[in-house]
Amino acid sequence: MTPGRSSERSAPDPDPTADQATKDAMSNATTVSPAHSASTASTLITNIAALVTNDPSLGDSSPLGLIQDAAVVIEGDRIAWTGDQSKAPATDNRVDAGGRAVLPGFVDSHSHLVFAGDRTQEFNARMSGRPYSAGGIRTTVAATRAATDEELEANVTRYLAEALRQGTTTFETKSGYGLTTHDESRALRVAARHTDEVTFLGAHIVAPEFAEDPAAYVALVTGEMLDACAPHARWIDVFCEKGAFDGDQARAILTAGQARGLHPRIHANQLSYGPGVRLAVELDAASADHCTHLTDEDVDALANSRTVATLLPGAEFSTRAEWPDARRLLDAGATVALSTDCNPGSSFTSSVPFCIALAVRDMGMTPDEAVWSATAGGAAALRRTDIGRLTPGAYADLTLLDAPSHVHLAYRPGVPLVTGVWRRGERVL
Ligand SMILES: [Zn+2]
Repeated sequence: MTPGRSSERSAPDPDPTADQATKDAMSNATTVSPAHSASTASTLITNIAALVTNDPSLGDSSPLGLIQDAAVVIEGDRIAWTGDQSKAPATDNRVDAGGRAVLPGFVDSHSHLVFAGDRTQEFNARMSGRPYSAGGIRTTVAATRAATDEELEANVTRYLAEALRQGTTTFETKSGYGLTTHDESRALRVAARHTDEVTFLGAHIVAPEFAEDPAAYVALVTGEMLDACAPHARWIDVFCEKGAFDGDQARAILTAGQARGLHPRIHANQLSYGPGVRLAVELDAASADHCTHLTDEDVDALANSRTVATLLPGAEFSTRAEWPDARRLLDAGATVALSTDCNPGSSFTSSVPFCIALAVRDMGMTPDEAVWSATAGGAAALRRTDIGRLTPGAYADLTLLDAPSHVHLAYRPGVPLVTGVWRRGERVL
């Protein structure tokens, strides 16, 4: 766990000055006396044409728990009430959603935002016919090492603001462009200033200095580098792929991280078939990410585990690669998350709505499934139950669309539909 997590989750006593009628109404509604912090003012968002709660016990009883003509009450940083707008309790403040759709803020469970430099030329060349290989990462490694802390910080801040404008309220991000003890640990410190979901990815590729001796690099990653990085991260990740790390190296790296209290997640089966997905399941990783090239055994392993298959269609889009088959995973019973993989090489998009549209158009997902995967699915990939849903007790992270339905995220691709964002109960857009 990262510093700040426990204090952020601690909850003061309920506000003794709260209006009694509001309290009574709330106790008659759904459940839970909300845990709330700083601000105790309550806000009603009403006149919501379609509300995605991700609680199948609500509304239409689908996985989205879709409620028509709905309202939500925010108290402090949490959801206090969710339901039919005609039954909404009295509150201090009121927001009219104007017949628009509201859904949980997107949970982007896979991004690489601590980097410097640009790979426009590589993208341009690839779109002219050159295939993507893992080696392009070295370009960003050189630029990231040369950047100042302030430049890295400015980059993260910029892309986070960009993601927030598109409805993302939680994001995970990684190191992986430093590949020295100093540069990896400083990347994690930068990331930890912006999110609790920080991942140590010293094993992104073998550092250029160790090209002739990958075993020595694995020893560094599992030794001195891990010692310096573990205090700043929650997760450990490895790029298990030809040209990066094989199954045995990946197992050594992830188990070393586990021994230091980090939880595993894996870049698995992106560019080719391989052992990554089965290793993820074997180690109870929270997520196997990419999952583009899967055998039937890989699909079965995911379906019979609690490891989430995180699909990153921005990567396939940006490399003109074969799409992952979401339909096959869903039909087998696997849990699927959708994320951006935002990085300067293979997927330079921070837009979850764009990924939803791709998943619906090209990966066999229904609009409902894609929206679930980008919210509740992302939360599952981070093993979180306090985000990705709009039910009492969850964080008040909401996205308001300038559209009457969440389906418009796929129906109107490329259109900036996000018109309001609340994060931890504060309206930030
Ligand atoms: Zn990635």
